[in-house]
Parts: sequence; structure tokens; C-alpha cells
Amino acid sequence: MADRYLSFTGTAPGRFLTRRLGLPQPAALHRWSPERPSLKGDRLLLTAGKSDLGLTDADARTALGLDLTTAPSGKPAAAVLDATGVRDVETLAEVHAALHPVVRSVAESGRVVVLGAPLDPADHHQAAAQQALEGFTRSLGKEIGRGRTVNLLRLTDAHAAESTLRFLLSPKSAYLSGQVIEVGSAPADVTAPRDAPHDPDRPLTGRTALVTGAARGIGEAVAETLARDGARVVVLDVPQAEQDARRVADRLGGTALALDITAPDAGARIAAALPDGLDVLVHNAGITRDRRLVNMPAERWSSVLDVNLTSVLRTTDALLESGTLKRGGRIVATASIAGLAGNAGQTNYGASKAGIVGLVRALAPRALAEHGVTVNAVAPGFVETRMTAAIPLFIREAGRRMNSLAQGGLPIDVAETTAWLADPGSSGVNGQVVRVCGQSLLGA
Ligand code: NAD
Repeated sequence: MADRYLSFTGTAPGRFLTRRLGLPQPAALHRWSPERPSLKGDRLLLTAGKSDLGLTDADARTALGLDLTTAPSGKPAAAVLDATGVRDVETLAEVHAALHPVVRSVAESGRVVVLGAPLDPADHHQAAAQQALEGFTRSLGKEIGRGRTVNLLRLTDAHAAESTLRFLLSPKSAYLSGQVIEVGSAPADVTAPRDAPHDPDRPLTGRTALVTGAARGIGEAVAETLARDGARVVVLDVPQAEQDARRVADRLGGTALALDITAPDAGARIAAALPDGLDVLVHNAGITRDRRLVNMPAERWSSVLDVNLTSVLRTTDALLESGTLKRGGRIVATASIAGLAGNAGQTNYGASKAGIVGLVRALAPRALAEHGVTVNAVAPGFVETRMTAAIPLFIREAGRRMNSLAQGGLPIDVAETTAWLADPGSSGVNGQVVRVCGQSLLGA
């Protein structure tokens, strides 16, 4: 279902009218395409406090491939504020001093990325100052407008954060705003590319990725994006959708697997179909069966829990235990903002998606230590798919506009986020739940 309001506000009369009426002013976002693969303009580096990251050293920045400048010409495409050295509340004034003069000049669809440090439990002054960056980031995200995004990255080592910074500073993260992402370090053998030289444009070369529910919607976009990044893709969907799954697989040079993911032996059947193992497992299949709890029969409850949570737990366990998921592997599960904020009529769905968050947080450290596999979740907000096209008009309009970018996301936005988490360079990103919601007001 096309967003006609967004098209209307893109015209001169539309802009005039909506401004006069005080209505939302969504900007047409710059998303990645082969023709426009990067944001136009310099990436400005700013500093607050005494940082240990070494980003002020031009050589270190070049080694990271970050291409940051301290003297931009024209409107910067991004402002990166290194605030890792902010250790007390007094130094927060430097955050204001650094960004206050430049925020206005950041280009349309541009980025503000704040680099923070992990909270130090032994130093409550540092913890207060670093937590303050979270409120700062989220507030700036809500006011900055013009398709610009603001995110906070907590890190200890800029090298481990390279793939994340590259993603955040690219058009691939167009619909990601108001997020706090932690990047740690990971064992070297988990980071190293195995069977192919690392190519930042095709980081998944030589890897196999399986996407559940990939015959259409978000899953189809995920399969397409992972294939673009070099992966051999396996398109899994229910037997009733086999024709569509085959069509997607053929287009991407991959294979289709007709399988109901709730089958008790789904894990064993996936393992049998992948004798050479699996590198990336994307749990995307999901269903809704909305009703208020008072009207919800047990069958509607259990079918949603079965597809969205039980099957994810069961297949994850099976593929880790059988060794099908290789070292250096990635699991990306799909949560939802309904699982974080709750949603009327969705007690079953909200429970299932909150369950995904619990699974990810508990399994991530263990899966990395024991299997060398990272586990993360994407939590989409309102995304334009058949699922959301079925929502009644007024609720759908509210869902689209109630976020900082005043528009719905596209399947590609979730796909790009998944591709970043699947990147071999993202080993330091583990146990994260990343909302792809344009900084939705729900659960904010
Ligand atoms: P969709 O309904 O368009 O596609 C879901 C796909 O999963 C379908 O192809 C379906 O056949 C498949 N599937 C369902 N049950 C399955 C099973 N038992 N075994 C194998 N495949 C099965 O949905 P979508 O909008 O693309 O959503 C994809 C994921 O994103 C879901 O997990 C959904 O909960 C989540 N999500 C979507 C939104 C949104 O706004 N669209 C928001 C938050 C979260």
C-alpha cells in the first residue's frame, strides 16, 4: 500500500499546505542503491572529553577506512562525536559545545553518530555522564528532522566497531534512529574471514544464509540483500508458498526449501538440506492472529507462539547442537516493537516477540563462547508489507506517522540491518536488539 501522504508532501503544493496546517513533514529518505551507494558530503569528526580511541590521528582513521575529517567543506553528510572520554557531568558541556554549532548544517538524510563508552559500575559519575548521552541522543533524534538520524554507539575499540560505523554512516541505515548499540570485542577466530578474502562490498562471499519466511515481505528483502552481499541463499517458506519461494530463489541464484518451521523435525530437515553447514540463520517467519485477550481462543494464542517463538527456540537449539551453524556464524531473530512496548489486541504476538528478546539476551554470550556464533535481533516498527496493509486505514496512518521520520519503514530497511549484523566484521555486536522503527514513539 503506497504512502500517498509522503508522495504528496514531496510536491511543492503539498509541502506548502502541510506546513501551513502544522502536519508531519516526512522527508524522502536516501536509501542505498548501486547508483547512490553513499551519503553526499564529508563526515565531520568532533570530540568531547579526553578520548582514548585515537580517532583524531588521521592515520588511525585511514586504517579504519572511516574517512573522517575535522574540517569539512560544505554541508557535512555526518557528524561523528567521539564522547567516549566524557567521564563526568561537567564534560557534558563539551557535547553541547561540539554539536550546537554544526547540527543545523548536517545535510538532509544525514547522520549524527555519538560514540560513547560502556557504563563503569565502579564510577557513578562516569555512568551518569555516559547514560546522559542516551537521553541526549534520543532527544536530538526527535527534533532534528529532515530525514536525519541520531544514534549512540557504545564501544571500547574502534576497530571492532568498523562494520557498525560503516553501516551507520551509510544510506543503508536510513530508517534507524534513536538507537543505542553496544559493540564489544570478539575472539579473533570468530572475526577472521574463512574461505574467501574479505570484500567490504560483498562481505558474505562464500557464506550460506538461510532465511525463514522468505517467499515475500521482509524475508524476501532479507534474502535479496544477503545475496547482494555475496551469500548463497536458502529461501525457506511453508509448502503452500513453495511457488513464490522458488521464484525468489531462482531470481537470487539460491535454493528454495518448502518447510513449515513449526514441524518438530524442522531443525533436522534444515541440517539435512545443508550438509556443508550454515553461516547465517535469519528467523524471519512470523504471523499475527490479533484479538483482545477476552476474545482470544487458545488456538489463536498457540499458533502465534508456535511460529514466532517455539520454532525459533527449537531450530536454533537443533542447528547449534548439530554443528550445522559454523564458527563465525550469525543468528538474527525478528522481534517487533510490539514485543517491547506492547500493543492492544496483540497479547499473543507481543508475548512471542518479547520472548525473542529474552532468547537473544540469554543465548548470545553462551553461543559466542561455545560455538563462535553471535545472536542478535531486529525489532521492526511499522514496515510497509502485506501484514501492515491489512491494518484499518486510520490505525495504519497513525502507525506510519508516529515516529521521528514521520513515515513507515520499507522491508529493505530491516534487510540492511540484518545484513550488517550478518557481516563477518560484526563479531563484536552480540546480544543486541536493534529497533528498525524510525524512532517510533511506541515504547520509546
Ligand atoms: P509476511 O506475512 O508478509 O511474511 C511472512 C512470511 O513468513 C510469509 O511468506 C509466510 O508464508 C511465512 N511463514 C509464516 N508461517 C510460517 C511457518 N510456519 N513456516 C515457514 N514460513 C512461515 O510478514 P512480514 O511483514 O514480512 O514480517 C516478517 C517478520 O517481521 C515477522 O516475524 C513479523 O512478525 C515481523 N515484523 C513485521 C512488521 C511489519 O510492520 N511488517 C513489524 C514488526 C515485526
